Parts: sequence; C-alpha cells; structure tokens
Amino acid sequence: MFRRSASIAVILLIILTLGTGCAGKSVKVQEFSRENFVMDTLLKISVYTTDPQLGKQALDEAFAEFSRINALADRHGDNKAVDLENSDIYKINANARRKPVQVSEDTMAMLEKSNRFADLSGGAFDITIGPVVDLWGFQQNERHIPSDEELRTKQALVDYRQIVLDREQKTVFLPQNGMALDLGGIAKGYATDMAVKKLRQLGVTSAMINAGGNVYALGSKPDGSLWRVGIQDPRDDQNIIAILSVEDAAVVSSGDYERYFSVDGVRYHHILDPSTGKPANQMMSTTVVTSSATDADVLSTALFVLGPERGRQLLEQLTDVRAVFVDAAQKVTYSESLEGQIEFTRIHF
Ligand code: AMP
Ligand code: MG
Repeated sequence: MFRRSASIAVILLIILTLGTGCAGKSVKVQEFSRENFVMDTLLKISVYTTDPQLGKQALDEAFAEFSRINALADRHGDNKAVDLENSDIYKINANARRKPVQVSEDTMAMLEKSNRFADLSGGAFDITIGPVVDLWGFQQNERHIPSDEELRTKQALVDYRQIVLDREQKTVFLPQNGMALDLGGIAKGYATDMAVKKLRQLGVTSAMINAGGNVYALGSKPDGSLWRVGIQDPRDDQNIIAILSVEDAAVVSSGDYERYFSVDGVRYHHILDPSTGKPANQMMSTTVVTSSATDADVLSTALFVLGPERGRQLLEQLTDVRAVFVDAAQKVTYSESLEGQIEFTRIHF
C-alpha cells in the first residue's frame, strides 16, 4: 500500500519536473522557411517544428537534395553552380551514338519512370524531346518559331523506345547522333520526392515545398488542419481558380502560362506534343494530385499533351491519381474523387 503511493508520488514528481522544465523553454511550433532559385525556378520550403536546430538542418538537407538532382539532370548549365561534366544527362547527350554512359541510381530511376509513363501515355510524355525543345529555344532563351523542315529533322530524333537502358551495368546510351534527353518534365518532381524523404527521415511531420508550382504538402498544418493549395488561373496570375485541401500529397501543375512567347497573338509555350513537335494546344493547365511528386510532375505534363479526352482515359487506368483540367476554352473539369476536397473561388491576392 505504502509502496504504491510512493511510486505514484515519484511519478507525479517526474511529471511536475518535466512540466516546469518545459515551461522554461519554448515548445511553440515555429516556421522555418527559405527561398532560393534552383532548377530554373523559385523554390520555397517551410518546415514547422518546435526544434530550431531541426528546422535549420531540415532546410539545409532538403535544399541540398534539389541541388544534387539538379546537378545530375541539368543539360545546359543553366545554373552556374553546376559542373556539366558531372551531369549524367549532359554526359548521356554528349555521348549519343558514341558510347553508353555510367549513371547514378537517381538518374536510372528518373529514366525508368519516364519510360513507364511514356508507354502509358502513348508517347505523349517523351524525354527524348530535347532536340525539339532546343529548336524552339525555350531552354536557352533563344526563342523562335521553327520551320516545318527544321521540325521534321528534329522530330526524327524523338523516340523514347530507342533509349538503351542497362539496369545491370547502370548505363544509358542514345543510338542516334543529335538525340538528347530533357528531364524538364520530371526532375523537379523527383527532387521534391527526395527532399520529402529527407524531411521524413529527420522526423519532420509538417512541411510545405513549393518548387514553382510543384507543391508537396507534408503531413498536415501545425494546427492539424489540412494544407490549402491554390490552382493558378492560367490567364491571370493574380487569381486562383480553386483551392485544394490536402495532406501528404503532391499537387503539381503544368501550364501554357509558365514559359512562353507570343508572335502575332499566338502563344508558343514549352510543353510540346512529340507527335507534331509543336506546343500542345488542347489545354491551358493540368493539375495532378497524388502521393508521389515524381508521378504528379510527369503526369501533369503527359495529361497536358493528351488533352481532356485522352487525358481522362489515361486517368481511368491509374489508381489514386486525381486531376483538374483547364482546357483550351478555359473550361474546368476535375476528377469526381476530388469532390469535397476542391473549392472553386475567385480570390484577388
Ligand atoms: P512541366 O513544366 O513539368 O510540364 O514540364 C515541361 C518541360 O518538360 C519543358 O520545359 C521541357 O523541358 C519538357 N517537355 C516538354 N514537352 C515534353 C513532353 N512532351 N514530354 C516530356 N517532357 C517534355
Ligand atoms: Mg511535369
């Protein structure tokens, strides 16, 4: 009897001591955020934690993942910090028709995923689009409208089925002179997944990553409520057309408003239809919600190229992937399973 009450007293004492210990320090969840230009885009990461040391380390490591993937996937040296000689994609392209190139596990994973979705989308997503991207000059900011002849020549180099991937040897080979891989439609999503993995390993339970429209909402908001992610109005960057409520999900948009130039009132943007070599013209934007940022990135680009009809058919073959389409007539449609998770709005910032 006595013994028992003594142990209760001891427990009480420990709880009280812990209580006073906590009162001395701050246990309030704080936001730790940082912004920087990475992968040709503004990257903002916010981490919510009570531990300032963890907050800083989490930001350092998440940004480092983006730099690491960028260094593997950059093919033009857009970012001065990248040594192109170490970029897998630069090396693969430079050795087209010459020899297979040894690549990292991450590059292999990106190429395998790209090819899987290339198959599923009937070639609407095709990372051998590089020579056509270069022709339009989107990457180098030397934008011009190519002639049909120029397009035909470069299109002959676009065919993901020709990429020779050797899983065992971890090598990649492009068989034709002038072939070039472009990971612009997947690298940001893959880097986002790698950063999320790091954050989770460190024990972060609430964070938001926004890489220029590639969003990942980790966990829920610090108060336990869902994250709210806006979908941009493709014709008014001061407006959002809808808000999605999510947790542990990627929300990735592709749009004709992201990178484009106009000539005689016609908009030429960076998402190209491999079957024509020209900007895909059935959508203004596509937004994909799913648990993998890589899948969301690839699929937003693929669905954009496919257009609403074929896009819906592709979505039907996938599980746990939701989407919002804004078609060329600015008509908005969305997956039925988003009901209750999407609010339409016209909010001026
Ligand atoms: P995103 O902004 O994710 O939709 O990706 C667009 C980028 O992907 C472009 O800037 C190109 O680098 C690349 N790209 C363009 N068209 C395609 C395509 N049909 N398949 C794969 N990548 C593409
Ligand atoms: Mg994409």
